Amino acid sequence: MEENVPENWETVYNEIKEMKQKVLAPVDEQGSHTLGDKRTPEVFRFQTLVALMLSSQTKDTVLGPTMKSLKENLPKGLCLEDIREIDEDSLNKLIEKVGFHNRKTIYLKQMAQILEEKYDGDIPKTVEELMSIPGVGPKMGYLCMGIAWKKNVGIGVDVHVHRISNILGWCNTKTEEQTRLALQSFLPKDLWQEVNFMLVGFGQTICLPRGRRCNDCTLASKGLCPSAFQEKSLVKAKRSTSTKKVKKRSPSTSPEVDVIQDQKTVHEEVPTGLNELPPNALPGKKMKLESPLDDSQQETLTEEHYSKAAAQPLRRSRRTAAAASEYFSRQHLHDIEDLA
Ligand code: SF4
Repeated sequence: MEENVPENWETVYNEIKEMKQKVLAPVDEQGSHTLGDKRTPEVFRFQTLVALMLSSQTKDTVLGPTMKSLKENLPKGLCLEDIREIDEDSLNKLIEKVGFHNRKTIYLKQMAQILEEKYDGDIPKTVEELMSIPGVGPKMGYLCMGIAWKKNVGIGVDVHVHRISNILGWCNTKTEEQTRLALQSFLPKDLWQEVNFMLVGFGQTICLPRGRRCNDCTLASKGLCPSAFQEKSLVKAKRSTSTKKVKKRSPSTSPEVDVIQDQKTVHEEVPTGLNELPPNALPGKKMKLESPLDDSQQETLTEEHYSKAAAQPLRRSRRTAAAASEYFSRQHLHDIEDLA
């Protein structure tokens, strides 16, 4: 396995750890999921499992207040009995801010019933048994074993750990399970619990899934990240691909001029005289363009396709498009969440 050990992994690891300490709000070594402690061991383990089940697709800033709310609003301060007795609607309301809360409500109710019937009211003692509970995957299983039972049996790999490990060149994997095995092949066992919290925090603040902050990342300035600043070149590649595609379209084969294309395309595609949109070109209006062309050359514009961006300089158009793209991506995420 020696050949699989990434060069400089230790330097990179310590660098991320240092950034985390500077940039992130201090959390205890096991992350913000372990909270205070006047609880019985059973209640602590149960609450750990609940917190982990709620944590997927949810930021710590949402998870923390949700756990607090559950503890404050449930009669016994969030124990198995509380979840068994509360009705689904009330539970759903209490966890409504976490991602996929509708589905998680069902999972929590099922989990409480399984623990009572099969595990004498406690959580299971093996990762396999934990993963047999609906809504508990490998990441939660391994983290739960480490936090609740203090058993270090594997690394909890979620999307951030998987993504960043590949970004750093620590592995070249397609699935989270492959990443777990790859990381376990070279990371010392005493880092298996810590690495999750470290990379999740790093992935939520600096190496973001969209818009990595390479300028703020010391791995970039120290030449330690093979993926630093690659996003710019990706954007350029996408732009040139898009321009190329548009050039293939010929006005002669398409009677309508699609002015939703960016300004560069309009200039290239439309004969002289049609490049400037008239001031009366309003959205939703069908119109003939005034132009020096004769009737046979005149093209009909479908004004539903007209966007303000098309009449702006190129840079503005692209900025607008990028903003719209980001908005629709966010909206898409909201839609998915509502369907859950
Ligand atoms: S340099 Fe950029 S891509 Fe690399 S780890 Fe830092 S933020 Fe992520």
